[in-house]
Amino acid sequence: SSFLMVIFLITSLMSIVSQIGPWPGALPQDLLAIDIAAKLHMDSHATSLVSTDFGGLTQATPAAVFYPSSPHDIAVLVQFSYSSSRPFTVAPRGHGHSIRGQAFAPDGVVIDMASLGHGRNDRIIVHSDDSQFRYVDAGGEQLWIDVLHAALEHGLAPPSWTDYLHLTVGGTLSNAGVSGQAFRHGPQISNVYELDVVTGKGEMVTCSRDDNSELFYAVLGGLGQLGIITRARIGLEPAPQRVRWVRLIYDDFGEFTRDQERLITMISASKEMKKKKGGGFDYVEGSVLVADGSLIGSWRSSSFAGWDAERIARLGAEHGVIYCLEGAMYYDWVTASRSWVVDQELELLLEELSFVPGFAFTNDVSYERFLDRVHEGELKLRSKGLWDVPHPWLNIFVPKSRIQDFNTGIFKRILKHNKSTGPILFYPMNRDKWDKRMSSVIPDEEIFYSIGFLWSAIINDWEYLENLNLEILRFCDQEGIKYKQYLPHYLSQEDWMKHFGSRWDKFFEMKRKYDPKALLSPGQKIFTTSL
Ligand code: FAD
Repeated sequence: SSFLMVIFLITSLMSIVSQIGPWPGALPQDLLAIDIAAKLHMDSHATSLVSTDFGGLTQATPAAVFYPSSPHDIAVLVQFSYSSSRPFTVAPRGHGHSIRGQAFAPDGVVIDMASLGHGRNDRIIVHSDDSQFRYVDAGGEQLWIDVLHAALEHGLAPPSWTDYLHLTVGGTLSNAGVSGQAFRHGPQISNVYELDVVTGKGEMVTCSRDDNSELFYAVLGGLGQLGIITRARIGLEPAPQRVRWVRLIYDDFGEFTRDQERLITMISASKEMKKKKGGGFDYVEGSVLVADGSLIGSWRSSSFAGWDAERIARLGAEHGVIYCLEGAMYYDWVTASRSWVVDQELELLLEELSFVPGFAFTNDVSYERFLDRVHEGELKLRSKGLWDVPHPWLNIFVPKSRIQDFNTGIFKRILKHNKSTGPILFYPMNRDKWDKRMSSVIPDEEIFYSIGFLWSAIINDWEYLENLNLEILRFCDQEGIKYKQYLPHYLSQEDWMKHFGSRWDKFFEMKRKYDPKALLSPGQKIFTTSL
């Protein structure tokens, strides 16, 4: 029987080796001997799938892709690397919706986080019994759209979102997660109660504001540098049923930003006022429409009906640049009269705003459809072959005090003379809704604007758009506009230090404590050697 056992072991080993292909030199040989080796795939099919991302600007091939069945598998892998005399890097890949290779692990191991959720229905659990404390426990690999569906079954929903829901919980919480609700509820990271994390030493740690709080704060917005999020506990609120969704067009930048700022401070200042005046939006965003450029091919402007789109385009051509304030009012369709109340509330609110008369466009949709709106745009673009194109996006946070200079220099000058395609998002947020103990970096002013140049390389190649991005950043630097990049991308540690500013020392200290061998998310290019 011992002979049979030896034969069995040899054939098992051979089957593992044939599954994983030739062993790459970049990985230590003894990794092959541990249990999880069968979950590592080295074939070019597996590695090529994770060598690109949504940005489509760069490529990097890992030595292997890891398909974990549990958070414990991830801990074993990271722990192995940490203890090895030949440590290798490890990058969790959420949905690969980064722009610049942030989820790559050149010659290291990419963890296919989705594999945690395969065939498991216990990775999103809604806790709704205690009306004072309702939350969802979601695996870090879960898509927000699935979190939404699970929560809606209980009539609940997280309060803060991203514009697009086909992103993972772990991926957005590693950045911040912002959308038009952030002015009131803060970014997604402000709505997390607890996390399960695998650190860069391979330890599995549960952390919250009370327990292991240092790690909790560091991981949120931590760009995947301090731990791999395997579960997040996220607060829930009663979900509205319907959304009255409005777009208002402005030809004057001063009026546009004054109204946007008024809307976000009015509500954050006092919920009472919202009740009394009946005014206020639950969601505030906006965009900039530059004639010849972002008016065309944008997945947002496409939501205007044909005749309206033509009127808006004419106004745009007349002014060169126009602005669109986007607001949403949530309500429940309990009775028909409730919908009538919303009509009244909206009418009162619109009376106070200074958009171009006749340029208010209203829509009424279900809450779910509103939240999943970008996916509708995605399907349209996919059907035209315009989704899988390079996306040289630039996202920055700009302090309110310099927003007029930004308009004059960027929208009215640089963009006017360049052809670009894709929406330009533009909306303000309140600093006091962000927790400064978390790792995300924002400007040092009470109100700052989130500006997203969401370019698609359709009419121009991506290098052209990259140069445009550089020109925008150069203008800000020359004018001393103290912006911060969101979904930041830098190539040198010196630039990262500038990005973090006074918070660099703390971030460095956290890295030394939780990932001292700099194994995690090397694609961010912040730390390249052990600390
Ligand atoms: P990935 O790109 O796979 O990973 C991002 C980074 O996080 C990598 O460094 C990765 O190693 C790390 N990571 C991934 N999973 C984990 C984990 N579980 N634990 C720790 N680290 C992890 N962002 C907004 O804030 N608001 C928006 O409205 C918004 N809209 C978007 C719309 C589109 C169409 C796209 C493509 C992106 C949008 N984003 C938005 C950006 C998005 O938040 C980032 O792309 C983010 O990285 C999430 O993508 P992902 O889940 O695919 O993560």
